[in-house]
Amino acid sequence: MAKKSVKKAASVRSAKGRSAKGQAGKGAKTSRYVYFFGSGKADGDRSMRDTLGGKGAGLAEMTNAGLPVPPGFTISTAACTIYYEQKGKIPAGIDQEMLANLKKLEAATKASFGSSANPLLVSVRSGAKFSMPGMMDTILNLGLNDTTVEAMKAKTRNGRFAYDSYRRFIQMYGNVVLEIGKDEFEHELTAVKKAHGVTQDPDLTEDALRQVVDRYKGVVRKHTKKDFPQDPLEQLRGARDAVFRSWQNPRAKEYRRIYTIPDHIGTAVNVQAMVFGNTGERSGTGVGFTRNPATGAKEFYGEFLINAQGEDVVAGIRTPRPITDLEKVMPKAYQQLRTITSRLERHYKDVQDFEFTIQDESLYMLQTRNGKRTGYAAVVIATDLVAEKLITPKDAVLQVEPEALSQLLSPIFDPKEWKGIEVATKGLPASPGAASGQVVFTADHAVEWSKQGKEVLLVRKETVPDDIHGMFVAQGILTATGGMTSHAAVVGRQMGKPSVVGAGSLVIDEHAKTVKVGSHQLKEGDWLSFDGLTGEVKVGKVATKPSEIIQVVNGEMKGESSDIFRRFNQMLTWADSFRRLGIRANADQPDQAEIAYGFGARGIGLCRTEHMFFGEGRIPIVQKMILADNEKDRRKALDELLPLQRADFHGVFKAMKGTPVTIRTIDPPLHEFLPKREDLMVDIARMEATHQGGPALDEKKRLLHRVEQLHEFNPMLGHRGVRLGITYPEITEMQARAILEAACDVTKEGGKAVPEIMIPLVGDVKELADQKAVVDRVAAQVMKERGVTVKYLVGTMIEVPRGALMADQIAREAEFFSFGTNDLTQLTYGFSRDDIGKFLGAYQERKILAKDPFASLDTEGVGALVEIGTKKGRATKPNLKIGICGEHGGDPASVHFFHKVGFDYVSCSPYRVPVARMAAAQAALQEKGKA
Ligand code: ADP
Ligand code: MG
Ligand code: MG
Repeated sequence: MAKKSVKKAASVRSAKGRSAKGQAGKGAKTSRYVYFFGSGKADGDRSMRDTLGGKGAGLAEMTNAGLPVPPGFTISTAACTIYYEQKGKIPAGIDQEMLANLKKLEAATKASFGSSANPLLVSVRSGAKFSMPGMMDTILNLGLNDTTVEAMKAKTRNGRFAYDSYRRFIQMYGNVVLEIGKDEFEHELTAVKKAHGVTQDPDLTEDALRQVVDRYKGVVRKHTKKDFPQDPLEQLRGARDAVFRSWQNPRAKEYRRIYTIPDHIGTAVNVQAMVFGNTGERSGTGVGFTRNPATGAKEFYGEFLINAQGEDVVAGIRTPRPITDLEKVMPKAYQQLRTITSRLERHYKDVQDFEFTIQDESLYMLQTRNGKRTGYAAVVIATDLVAEKLITPKDAVLQVEPEALSQLLSPIFDPKEWKGIEVATKGLPASPGAASGQVVFTADHAVEWSKQGKEVLLVRKETVPDDIHGMFVAQGILTATGGMTSHAAVVGRQMGKPSVVGAGSLVIDEHAKTVKVGSHQLKEGDWLSFDGLTGEVKVGKVATKPSEIIQVVNGEMKGESSDIFRRFNQMLTWADSFRRLGIRANADQPDQAEIAYGFGARGIGLCRTEHMFFGEGRIPIVQKMILADNEKDRRKALDELLPLQRADFHGVFKAMKGTPVTIRTIDPPLHEFLPKREDLMVDIARMEATHQGGPALDEKKRLLHRVEQLHEFNPMLGHRGVRLGITYPEITEMQARAILEAACDVTKEGGKAVPEIMIPLVGDVKELADQKAVVDRVAAQVMKERGVTVKYLVGTMIEVPRGALMADQIAREAEFFSFGTNDLTQLTYGFSRDDIGKFLGAYQERKILAKDPFASLDTEGVGALVEIGTKKGRATKPNLKIGICGEHGGDPASVHFFHKVGFDYVSCSPYRVPVARMAAAQAALQEKGKA
């Protein structure tokens, strides 16, 4: 199985990317693949994450800073690429380099591999450029065999410790390298525990552990038909290659897909001398954060376990203790840890997530990295760090992911309703947010149910990295065991998913599909709710209400009385000072426009007039207009629509306080406003069967007739957009009149209106010229009638490929361009936005498409048309105003592209405006950074 994945993943990275920094001498052909760290000096540093991975770069940096880090070496990510290129082989040259560094490590530790006096034991750790918590593999205590285990026993006079380490090693090596299921080992361990009458791992005696080792060896023999490898070098090579292979395991791949981490960059391998947290009561291991990663509060945060090793803390098997307890247990090590981690935070100018081990009261640092955090915490931390003068507002803007801001908008429980329900149980508040959903017990069910449109809560004893797909779709994650740094907590925070972990009173029976929550017995599908900020869990479905920020934007709450709004607003005010792109919103109605303005949109980039047609009581009038088979009747219906549209535009202009409002003339095919053909036929049949005749039946029949007339084979390419305005100019006339009358009225009332009238779906300049003439004629009439002048623009959407290609001609008539990237994507790829779901999954699986081109702009193909359109348009009119009004306006990666191409603004949905403001600022700052 492993072999297969190796071949499939044959990497495509160029030779250029492979040659790392440390080239040996001028013109030397030999690249360097292994970097040493130890005794206060490292070959690498923090800037080399591409080569060393995040973990390797962090270990190098900490070593250089003189911190207590066990020595070791990093095999670079380039070696991983080669491993895949060579179909799962490491060339002799790289192997030699590894052995040379192993010699150095032996010298630095005064221990040697396989020695029966003082054996060197190492960990073999994965570590890619971007951290992927728990997704790849790590092996501890490598170098142990039947001889060295006795040497360790003699050296430490601690047989229990030696055999505990050995059994852990066989288990990890057996699972990761030999690909034997974890359960096989767990099964043996449980059997020995049972036989000795103990429940906790640390209670096993040396003798019991020897038995575990023997049974584990038996498992290995049974599965591989060979004895457990005794040669430390064979072990090392096996572990190294397995770590490279773990880059392609399914959960790592899924993780990369979710976080759009490139597949080709590979992982580094860190080989590091072991230190031991499992030698007894004066040892331990832990993980922590310099600030609370859930809420951002400035508090030392983390967990540890006495007499434990490696993953014990995060695995959720034993419940760890809060890190502040360490002060009582080992005050000296605790103080040292505080000092070191504060130093690291100042050094990296960001919250640090660290891993440490204490061996016989000596502290060792094993990892540091910028901590993953919730969107909520990100904003709190960034504003605090600026207040503490650790970073500048510019750093803060670069530090916060634009998406974090949209997390702050997610709903909270209505406090009144929430208080009224009894607390069923409480867990640790791992990631804030209100979650309410139907209970499911497996990740697969979560995915299945959510595909059926259900809202689910994933309830697990503990989550494992394989659950990632289920966590992704769930409303929230609730676990029975595990601490604030458990897998569920870490991943939940990163995804911005409400999470409560370690709710110890939960009794989950996965097979029976039941969970006991306090005194309530629930089955799969029952509703459960929890608050990720407090850890409270309650039975039932609970309604949510808007977040504080939305309440402020809605005017239901004062900005000053919300701490999180104040910080949110501060971040965005900083962002505004750096960005060049203008930010507008797509909003169709006055209330939406108000929200958009509240979120900081300074203009409407797309107001879809047809959405107004769907308003209360309007559809019958619209239908009358469509059903008219002559111009006179059509005009009568349009006369009825005019005051309604005018009132809407009036409201939108007012809400936007004198900022530009781009209004698109009617766009969709007319049959969208009529009932469905099938529905009408059913109605008619029913009426005839029950002998209901008369005018109602005649009306239905007339409707059906018109629906059939309007039927199109390809409505997306049919009678829509500018084509409607050309065939029915009276519709354009009415709309232009409504817009300009509203603008004149606002002006007369002492306000300001800046209308920009936009003609959709133009592919030929003559189409635009035709419609522009209509608008200009009506505008002149209206201004004369109203006795005021209003400045207005007439422009077009560029959304048909021909429009982009002929943009120089179109710009002769257009006073602005707005790229309609949804239609442009449809028409460039020939993918229908409504049908892409049928094959997108397969395309992504086969890596034909990296992402959904309707969510994130295809900057290569569709982007080429955007660039051509922009260049040609501005060749005709150098100051031509250019923006974008497709959904892509709220996608950070697309915003970067639009910035680069030189747009004036992006327009997105009102709730994405904060994200767009941040993304635009980052685009501007990163561009400057490069220059
Ligand atoms: P992950 O990337 O999944 O966090 P790591 O490589 O960091 O995996 O290893 C997990 C844990 O194993 C570490 O947090 C640490 O507790 C333990 N560990 C790794 N290397 C060593 C070592 N050289 N000595 C002691 N413990 C180690
Ligand atoms: Mg780690
Ligand atoms: Mg369109």
